[in-house]
Amino acid sequence: MDISSILQGGYQHPLSRSWQSRRQLTKSMLMYPIFITDDPDASTVIATLPAQRRWGVNKLAEFLGPLVKKGLRSVILFGVPLKCQKDGRGTPADDPEGPVIQAIKKIRELFPDIYIAADVCLCEYTSHGHCGLLHDDGTINTEPSVERLAQVAVNYAKAGAHCVAPSDMMDGRVKAIKRGLIDAGLGNKCTLMSYSAKFASSLYGPFRDAAGSAPSFGNRKCYQLPPAGKGLARRAIQRDVAEGADIIMVKPALPYLDIIADAAQLAPDHPLACYQVSGEYAMVCAGATAGVYDLRTMAFESVDSMIRAGATLILSYFTPQFLDWLDE
Ligand SMILES: [Zn+2]
Repeated sequence: MDISSILQGGYQHPLSRSWQSRRQLTKSMLMYPIFITDDPDASTVIATLPAQRRWGVNKLAEFLGPLVKKGLRSVILFGVPLKCQKDGRGTPADDPEGPVIQAIKKIRELFPDIYIAADVCLCEYTSHGHCGLLHDDGTINTEPSVERLAQVAVNYAKAGAHCVAPSDMMDGRVKAIKRGLIDAGLGNKCTLMSYSAKFASSLYGPFRDAAGSAPSFGNRKCYQLPPAGKGLARRAIQRDVAEGADIIMVKPALPYLDIIADAAQLAPDHPLACYQVSGEYAMVCAGATAGVYDLRTMAFESVDSMIRAGATLILSYFTPQFLDWLDE
């Protein structure tokens, strides 16, 4: 046998196998998505999203306390208003008494070392359930949408969010939000993480259940990217870098590993996030329940593939479990 044929000597030991990855999953690479509702005492099970709940601000200490002890470093907040009056421009999004702003303040007070990102979108707060403001004919009205999103982002940053993360996919919002942060004196105090390549995926179902954010008519295909749209994704990533995004994100993750790899090449000097979305998480859980694979092994395999593709930050509902698994 030729010398060049033998590879197995290089990974015969568990430790030498671990050296085969350029980077390995660490606790600091995990950001935990959490749902905050406007009933302060809520702890409500979400049927389609195993082991996840909607939380009220009064429950954040008991919910997050044990996770912080295990090494949780960051969260991303999604508001789930159930009682508010929704309207065409998503007025409740930055209500000072609303769930997101209240949760930002509460978490800052309870856990000063936790990094808080706030998802920025309007769909949870608009009467029509779309991510921007609409013309009379139901199409997106871009300019006022972007203006409103920037306003909401600045108000989250003022409340103490370390990071604002627009997920709406409106054209030009990264630039408007960055400008808004700078004008509010927060340009050097708040990170802008852009959902740059966010695809119109079938994997958001459990999230829409959790957040109550399904559109009342139509769909989001005019702003979220078509799943086969590799070129569009590349353009969106480059645009957001040019508009001032500090972190680029690809969403969903597992079916879009090539896009993560593209982003790593197009934005090599930026942190690169990916979102293992609700449907991916539910799929991994369901496969394990059906006996297709071991849950932990598959959870690691899925996330290791994202890191291999180039991700440096992973938003995952598996975060609580990874905090345990990474200690073992
Ligand atoms: Zn939205």
